[in-house]
Amino acid sequence: MALTALEIYKYLPKTNCTECGSPTCLAFAMQIAAKKVELAKCPHISQEAKQALEQSSAPPIRLVTLGGQDNKVELGNESVMFRHEKTFYHQSALAVYIDDNLPEEEFEQNLNKIKRFSFERVGQNLKVELVFLNCRSQDKVKYCKRVEQVLKEGLLLILGCEKPDILDAALQISKANRPLIYKADKNNLDAFCEVAKKNNVPLAVEAENLEELSGLTKKANQNGVMDLVVQIKAKDLVSNLCNLTQIRRLALKRNDRSFGYPSIVFAEGEDLIATAMPAAAYICKYGSIVVLKNAEDWQILPLLTLRQNIYTDPQKPIQVESKIYEVGAVDENSPLLITTNFSLTYFTVEADVEASRVPSRILVVDTEGTSVLTAWAAEKLTVEKIVEALKKNEIENKLKHKTLIIPGYVSVMSGKLEDESGWKVVVGPRESSGIPAFLKGLGKAQDASCENNSLSR
Ligand code: SF4
Repeated sequence: MALTALEIYKYLPKTNCTECGSPTCLAFAMQIAAKKVELAKCPHISQEAKQALEQSSAPPIRLVTLGGQDNKVELGNESVMFRHEKTFYHQSALAVYIDDNLPEEEFEQNLNKIKRFSFERVGQNLKVELVFLNCRSQDKVKYCKRVEQVLKEGLLLILGCEKPDILDAALQISKANRPLIYKADKNNLDAFCEVAKKNNVPLAVEAENLEELSGLTKKANQNGVMDLVVQIKAKDLVSNLCNLTQIRRLALKRNDRSFGYPSIVFAEGEDLIATAMPAAAYICKYGSIVVLKNAEDWQILPLLTLRQNIYTDPQKPIQVESKIYEVGAVDENSPLLITTNFSLTYFTVEADVEASRVPSRILVVDTEGTSVLTAWAAEKLTVEKIVEALKKNEIENKLKHKTLIIPGYVSVMSGKLEDESGWKVVVGPRESSGIPAFLKGLGKAQDASCENNSLSR
């Protein structure tokens, strides 16, 4: 069990030097007990104390990594039950299940389909990371060939196989990519631990109930396997959600290390919707790996979007860099629009500018990842900030005009902005969806003004 703050305090130097960022050693001990800081923040701690405190300062849910240096998935290391308490650190990895005995063409088609499950949303690449390769053939040669095919496609692996000798052979070609072995249970734990330990790969452990799971993970640790992924046998959505929640609660609230591992769960139903619904529930609570028994693009896209939303740090919205973005073949007469650095805002504006087919520049102001109205209300989108962004990006050198288009929602700042920036300020539409018509109208107005000027000359 984890140590209390007073027990931890006994091991600290008690000099209150504040180098760890806490005002006293006791305050630091309380932070460690609450799992809010790392022990390494104290530079004066002795080696003996470090060892003694290691267990208490370790994350309540172990971090388990699948994959290699360049392509990897990190699981676990979570410290809260609910996202709003702090944040979730490692998003659920999605896996698609494939049998190894499918006909060659069908197997290749399935792999290509999984590779195609890759989408860009608000500047982030969302994709399915894993293939659950089920050894239905029970044929060592066939299984190893399929493992090679999956690796060739750059996908990460869960080796679903009951036979330790086949697993061992598959690991000889895949262990550098650190696949997960699936699965050990009470009948084969020792043999699977031996394979996992020998090849230094993580092991999935399945039990009938919580009590059995606790015993199995302890035994796996005694066998030298520390990187575990856990599962309790269940068929329906409610039982799976109860089990996943109990495991998370026992690890976080009771500090029971025997449950402190990432989890794996299967989403399977009679049809695609019946698969997608439990998968969505497991992404929310608390599946570290969600294996889909079948998958299509229309089903994967909302799951990836849901995952992105759940696992975005609520205190750090997704942001784009504050700078000038060019949309289309801009020149020195192209319009200049202002927006904020909240990703969703920026990419919506960018898409609407693109849709207008009027090449334009977008100046993104750093508003700490907030949208236009929120930023304005919180005084993060101010006249001073816009003037500063104009100067910092030296936009005057790139344009022949000095006209700035601001979002309609902040029209109230137009007068002051004109006075302080020396730019002519044009109030754009309130909603981004109005940008295409607005920019096209702007182009026509400019053409008319050019014609009038040439007629009057
Ligand atoms: S750095 Fe170490 S010794 Fe200094 S106050 Fe923090 S815990 Fe105490």
